[in-house]
Amino acid sequence: MTVPVAIIGAGPAGITAAVQLRRSGIEFLLLEKSRAGGLLNEANCVENFPGVPGGVAGRLLATRLKRQLAAAGIRVEKARVTRLAYGGRRFTLCTERETLTAARVILACGTVPVSPGPPLDAESLRGRLFTGVLPLLKARGETIAIIGGGDAACDYALSLAGNNEVHILVRSERLRALPLLVERCRRLGVVLHDNFRLVRVEVLEGDAGLVLHARNEPGKDNGGICCQRLLTAIGREPALGFLEPELRAALPELAARKAVFLAGDVGNGGFRQAAIAAAGGLRAAMEIHEGGSRCT
Ligand SMILES: Cc1cc2nc3c(=O)[nH]c(=O)nc-3n(C[C@H](O)[C@H](O)[C@H](O)COP(=O)(O)OP(=O)(O)OC[C@H]3O[C@@H](n4cnc5c(N)ncnc54)[C@H](O)[C@@H]3O)c2cc1C
Repeated sequence: MTVPVAIIGAGPAGITAAVQLRRSGIEFLLLEKSRAGGLLNEANCVENFPGVPGGVAGRLLATRLKRQLAAAGIRVEKARVTRLAYGGRRFTLCTERETLTAARVILACGTVPVSPGPPLDAESLRGRLFTGVLPLLKARGETIAIIGGGDAACDYALSLAGNNEVHILVRSERLRALPLLVERCRRLGVVLHDNFRLVRVEVLEGDAGLVLHARNEPGKDNGGICCQRLLTAIGREPALGFLEPELRAALPELAARKAVFLAGDVGNGGFRQAAIAAAGGLRAAMEIHEGGSRCT
């Protein structure tokens, strides 16, 4: 199958691009490997998206975006793009089921969590170590430790603290997160541990959980923290692992020629916010409309 435009990812960027392409009468395929709405599904409360006075739960905003797709008659193709290559003025996309070609591609695939390194060992901590909050939302009465000091760490804590005992462990002297998020965490009883440099994770027998050992500062004993689950929020990186190396090298040139568009978090560095992502998707769709959408 050949399509004029393939959109990879149905988060705020991909969804906004899709809605605008539909308005422009340009054919496209919207591919999503997991949940439409993207990372919004993980956000506790979104207060800085236009038109949502008082804020809205991320999952609710994601649901509204899905409804907007449905209202526009846009189908989300459930597929993971496993390979993307460019040659002969076309993009070739491979999914688990099929191979497609597209004249233009909107990369709206967002970011993936940075994998935790030592002393966190994914194998020995299987079932206990997480890099996203969704699998933990049903946890009740557990002790959960979150490693990280940014907005995401606080946001995760706010999602979990109502039903669990939550600790945030940060290496530096204080959290980088917005003060209002830190304050909300404090009010919900989240325990904040600064200068916590994790050096060892002890896995206890049976279901007893984990003990997190930190390097002690002189005169201060951080001791060990017992928890059942460990969640990392230590940064994210563009989800571009499926790009062929040649395409990755040619990205700046193809972007300049407006054959490929990086829309949303995937190309926004540290400015990862839903409204910015949506704006990126909208702009990509408008630029495609302006440039014409024929397969070349
Ligand atoms: C805990 C947390 C709290 C947040 N709070 C806020 C907030 O309060 N306000 C705010 O503005 N923003 C917030 N954000 C950030 C916001 O969610 C993101 O900026 C926004 O979702 C980015 O949109 P996006 O479309 O660029 O990427 P994403 O939302 O990451 O969507 C990308 C989509 O692409 C899909 N995908 C990736 N690779 C492939 C592939 N190979 N094949 C097919 N599909 C693929 C993914 O499954 C995903 O659905 C928060 C984020 C987190 C994690």
